[in-house]
Amino acid sequence: MLQEEQRRQIEQRLLREREQVLDAIGEFDETAKDLRERTGELSLADNHPADIATEHQEHEKDFLFASMEGRRLYAIDESLRLLYKEPERFGLCDVCGQDIGMERLDVIPETRLCAQHARERDAASDADANPREADGHANEEQR
Ligand SMILES: [Zn+2]
Repeated sequence: MLQEEQRRQIEQRLLREREQVLDAIGEFDETAKDLRERTGELSLADNHPADIATEHQEHEKDFLFASMEGRRLYAIDESLRLLYKEPERFGLCDVCGQDIGMERLDVIPETRLCAQHARERDAASDADANPREADGHANEEQR
């Protein structure tokens, strides 16, 4: 379990990384805005505005998740949420519940897996395109 001081240190790391990732996504966002304006003009005539808004949000989400930065941002946000909501669970491996270790968290603050399970996940991710789905199964098996 992490000391409060260590948690604060990781929090700062996460917040800094989040800003960097958001900067990187900012460029994608410009492209998405362009797309929104262009497709908006084309489809306004025969679509309800509410449908269009939803459609575009979905597109943007796909777009974001398709990028490495988008996935990274998601992981960082999830880690921050856990850090704030359940600080006692932060820093523990999602699979085995062991301490991830300050050394590892310092390098990859958004990680939710210990070194061993990160390696296993990497090996499995070739076969499984949806790591979040795998998370759920792994937790179910543990409990
Ligand atoms: Zn583990």
